[in-house]
Amino acid sequence: MNRFVFVFLLSILIISCQDIIPEFNGEESFTFLEKQCELGPRYPGSDEIELCRNYIIDELKKSGAEIQKQEFTSIIKEQEYKGVNIIASFYPRMSRRILLGAHYDTRPWADKEEDASLHNEPIIGANDAASGVAVLLEIASIISDKQPGQFGIDMVFFDLEDMGEYGNNTTWCLGSSYFAENFTEEKPEKAIVVDMIGDSDLQIEMEYFSYHNSPDLVNEVWNTAKELGFSEFKPKITNMIYDDHYPLICAGFNAIDIIDFDYPVWHTLEDTPDKCSPNSLYVVGQTLLTIIYSEK
Ligand SMILES: [Zn+2]
Repeated sequence: MNRFVFVFLLSILIISCQDIIPEFNGEESFTFLEKQCELGPRYPGSDEIELCRNYIIDELKKSGAEIQKQEFTSIIKEQEYKGVNIIASFYPRMSRRILLGAHYDTRPWADKEEDASLHNEPIIGANDAASGVAVLLEIASIISDKQPGQFGIDMVFFDLEDMGEYGNNTTWCLGSSYFAENFTEEKPEKAIVVDMIGDSDLQIEMEYFSYHNSPDLVNEVWNTAKELGFSEFKPKITNMIYDDHYPLICAGFNAIDIIDFDYPVWHTLEDTPDKCSPNSLYVVGQTLLTIIYSEK
């Protein structure tokens, strides 16, 4: 082969490798966040959470995913709640799998409001629920258009994450606990939960349980973000956060949480779309896409 032909072919190869990772659309993802919020507060037992389930399922159907509803019941404060985890599988015949998770239920109580008379008001949950779902729905639309080379993807939209009592870990993350305890298939290579990643002032530190259970996966995500120039991912280990990744870890998954827990309006009526930004969704979404489309 002549040297020029070789260089020409090599440059085509390099260009096509660079081309392999699609672009995450932060603006479109943000519309998924806004649409969830327009439904109103989406807490367990409300009509709005049922509308939200239907909304998520309708969006997933557009992506041609195989969809399953995993139903369960939980008793919270002596009341029975019906929970539904929504599970979507893309390219189910691919043996190497990545699981992505986010909760879609919102907290029925704005109990971090300073004014105690507001504590029984339900929150809109733009960041605390809608942001994670919004990133997953945008990824769903992208992977249905272009199959990743190495991985099939499973998404789980968890219910009943946010009905817990502060300081009592077993009262949170009921949907992911049910999912993890009833999971009988071969475990995915990687499981990544996203929660509260829409904050306009995005700063994502390495969550403690994630790092201690799955340091390689944490490093892969943070290094990927660094290579993409996303300084929002901070290489610093932070507090333990009991989120939907924790029941997965207990069940033996290689699972981590991507969460920005420094959100001043957490569990208040101020958790609204204006506190969130398309760019924050983009930063997290593009990092996840880069891992999904990785050839490793
Ligand atoms: Zn919450």
